[in-house]
Amino acid sequence: MMRKHSKEYLQNLTPYQGYELLVEGNKRFMNNLKMNRDHLEFINQTREGQYPFAVILSCMDSRTSTELVFDQGLGDLFSIRVAGNIVNNDILASIEYAIKYVGSKVLMVLGHTECGAIKSAKQGVVDGHITDLLKRIQPSISKALLNGDKDHLFHDGVTYANVENSLEEILIRSKIVKEMFEKEEIGILGGIYNIENGQVDFFKNLTKRKKEIKLLANV
Ligand SMILES: [Zn+2]
Repeated sequence: MMRKHSKEYLQNLTPYQGYELLVEGNKRFMNNLKMNRDHLEFINQTREGQYPFAVILSCMDSRTSTELVFDQGLGDLFSIRVAGNIVNNDILASIEYAIKYVGSKVLMVLGHTECGAIKSAKQGVVDGHITDLLKRIQPSISKALLNGDKDHLFHDGVTYANVENSLEEILIRSKIVKEMFEKEEIGILGGIYNIENGQVDFFKNLTKRKKEIKLLANV
């Protein structure tokens, strides 16, 4: 296998393989079988440049560090973190940079159970800059009420709706994301992390497998 953290590795990785790396990483995390990782070696490997395979928008919550929950190391992930994993222009710019200029193959929005931002939005908290951020979560509360409690793994309707809402906003507001997704150059994922057991529910997977099937047919 090609060395991770090289341009060639990232160019040859399909979006679906990127999705599988995240699934496997979360399994390792849950089973506590973390890869034997040498941070100094990763510093050496990544000193010439970075080739992270995924860009993940997640919450600032201290219990949901993406590198840990997907068992990844230095140089593996672009991590964008903000309370309630909401979307704004600066976040869109960061995502566009990751996929278009660095070549990350997977875009993921990761919410989590027991999210303080979502709880505050439900309570209608009004204070300082927090007010505006919580307004972005309000549509998800309405949506979850309309949908009723769907049969999601973690029974947390607003949290799921909020991830869906962020994904929709990204696709509607970013032409770059939409075009690269339609060309199957990137995959898109929505997930919820459960702070009680470490499990990620990859409930939304818009990552196509097609390219790999084509490749296999050529062998
Ligand atoms: Zn949160």
